Amino acid sequence: MSFDDPGDVRFRPDDDCPLFSQALEDHLVAVSKGNAPNTGRFCGNCYTPISRDTVRCPHCSEVADTTGATGRAPARAVPQPILDTLLRQRSIEAKWVNGFAYLGVLIAVISGLAIVLGIPLFRNSLLLATIFYAPYLLIGSRVFAGLLGGYYGDRIGYEKARTETRAAWAEWVAERDA
Ligand SMILES: [Zn+2]
Repeated sequence: MSFDDPGDVRFRPDDDCPLFSQALEDHLVAVSKGNAPNTGRFCGNCYTPISRDTVRCPHCSEVADTTGATGRAPARAVPQPILDTLLRQRSIEAKWVNGFAYLGVLIAVISGLAIVLGIPLFRNSLLLATIFYAPYLLIGSRVFAGLLGGYYGDRIGYEKARTETRAAWAEWVAERDA
C-alpha cells in the first residue's frame, strides 16, 4: 500500500504541525520520483502548492504576502529538509504497514492450517482440505493483511513517523525563523 492511489484513505489526526497537506505530499512524491520539478508557488508556512492568485493558504490559512507584512512570502520551491522529512516519514510508515500486512498473511496461513488439522473431515481427506485451504489462504491473507496493515500498521506507523515529522518541523521552524 503506498497511499498514492485515490482509494487509499490515510489516517490523519490533527496536530500542531501543518506539514504535508495531501497537495504537498503529492507534489513531493512526484518530485522524488523525478516526475515534476520542485518549482512553483508554495505557502510560505506549510509549503502547500498554491496558485498564482491564492491569497490565503487552503491548508494552514497563512496569508501569502510577498512583502511579508501580513503573512509569509510564498516560496518558489519546497526546502530540501521538508522533502527529506516526507521521505523519512513515508519510509517509517511503509515499514509498519508492510510489517503488519506480513503478520496478516502469517495469521491466514496458521489459522488455515489449524482449521484443516483441527477438523477430522479435512484431516482425513487431502482433497477436501485442499479445497478448503486454497481459497481460505487466498482470501484470508488479503483480508488479514488489509485489516492489520491498513488499519493497525497505518495508525501505529503514522504515529511513529509523525513524531519524527513534528520534531523535524520544530527544528526547521527554529532554523527558518532564526
Ligand atoms: Zn500553508
